[in-house]
Amino acid sequence: MKIKFLDLEKINNRFRSEIDQRIKNILDCGWYLQGKENEVFAKNFASYCGTKYAVGVANGLDALRLIINAYGFGAGDEIIVPANTFIATILAISDNGCTPVLIEPDINTYNINPNLIEEKITSKTKAIMVVHLYGQAVQMDKIREIAKKYNLKVIEDAAQAHGAYYENKRVGNLGDAAAFSFYPGKNLGCMGDGGAVVTNDETLYNKVKALANYGSDYKYHHIYKGLNSRLDEMQAAILDIKLKHLDDDNTRRRQIAKYYRENIKNPKIILPQTYNEESHVWHVFVVRCEDRESLQKYLEANGIQTNIHYPTPPHKQDAYKELENLKLPITEQIHQQVVSLPISPVLTDEEVKKIVEIMNEW
Ligand SMILES: *Cc1c(COP(=O)(O)O)cnc(C)c1O
Repeated sequence: MKIKFLDLEKINNRFRSEIDQRIKNILDCGWYLQGKENEVFAKNFASYCGTKYAVGVANGLDALRLIINAYGFGAGDEIIVPANTFIATILAISDNGCTPVLIEPDINTYNINPNLIEEKITSKTKAIMVVHLYGQAVQMDKIREIAKKYNLKVIEDAAQAHGAYYENKRVGNLGDAAAFSFYPGKNLGCMGDGGAVVTNDETLYNKVKALANYGSDYKYHHIYKGLNSRLDEMQAAILDIKLKHLDDDNTRRRQIAKYYRENIKNPKIILPQTYNEESHVWHVFVVRCEDRESLQKYLEANGIQTNIHYPTPPHKQDAYKELENLKLPITEQIHQQVVSLPISPVLTDEEVKKIVEIMNEW
C-alpha cells in the first residue's frame, strides 16, 4: 500500500459531476471574469466566514499584498509578523515597502507568541499580521488587547485555516481584514490559483476590490494605481461547490488528527498540541523529531509520503539577507525538526491505521 501525501485527484473527483455541470454553464454563456460566479461565491464565502464582505483575488499572496496596500502602509512602516511562516506572509509585507518585524512562535502551538509582541512595537508599527499556522487559529485575546492599546490593525493570514474557530467566531472574522489562499492543496482549494480578502470594513473592501481591478471603481475610471488580481469564473464556481463540503472535510481532518494524537505512541515523536478541538482544521499534521531525515526515509521506504512545512525559515532564505543575523532559535529549531504526515478528507481509516502502526515501529 502506497500512501500519497496529498491525493488532489481523489479529493476533487468527489465533486466531478457538479463541477462538470458548472464549468459547462460557463462555457455555454462565455463569461469568464467578474461575473455571476464571483458574485455568488464572494457572498457565500463572506457568509461562511461571518463577515460582511469578501472579494475574490488571484491568489493568497495578492490577498495579503492588497490588504497592506489598501491600508496605505508603505516605506518606513513596520508590521509585526511571526518568524515561522510560509514566505508569502513576509513577501506581502516587503513587497509594499514595509519592514517585517519577526516574532518567535510558541513552541507548543507553533503560532506567534503574543507575549513577545509588545517589546517590538515602535512609533513606526502599523499592524500585527497573524498567521493561523497549520490550520490552528491564533489565540487572539492578547493580540487584540495590544492592537487596541497601540492603535494597530490586525491582519489575518488565514491561508491555512479556512473554517477554524477562535471562541465563537471563524478565522477571517477575528481581526480587521483577512487573506485566504485557494491554492489546490489548501483546505478549500481550487484548480489553479485563487485567493480572497474578507472584512467587515466597507471602505477597505471597496478599496481592495478596486485595487485588484486596475484601481478601477467603474469601467475605464481609475482612482488608484492598481493591479490585475482577479479570481476567474471557473475557479469561483469550483470553490462555491467545494465550500459546501468544507465543514465535513474539516470534520474528517479532525477525526484523523484525533486518531493520530491518541494512537501514535513513540517517545521519539513530538505530537502537535491544540488548546481547543474546534480551533483547528489540520491543514497539515506536523510532528517533530530530532532525526527528521531518518524518519522521512523510513516512512518513504514503507510507502508513506511526507512533506516538510517548512525546511528553511524566511530569515535564512537568500532573498532576505537583511534578516540573516536575527536570533530566532525557536523558529530555527521548528524548521529543523518538523515532518508533515498525510492528512486529508479522502484518507481511509485503513491508511490512517497503517501510518500509526509504522510510526510506532520506528
Ligand atoms: C499558501 C499560503 C500563502 C500564499 O497563498 P498563494 O495562494 O499560494 O499565493 C500565504 N500564506 C500562507 C501561510 C500560506 O500557507
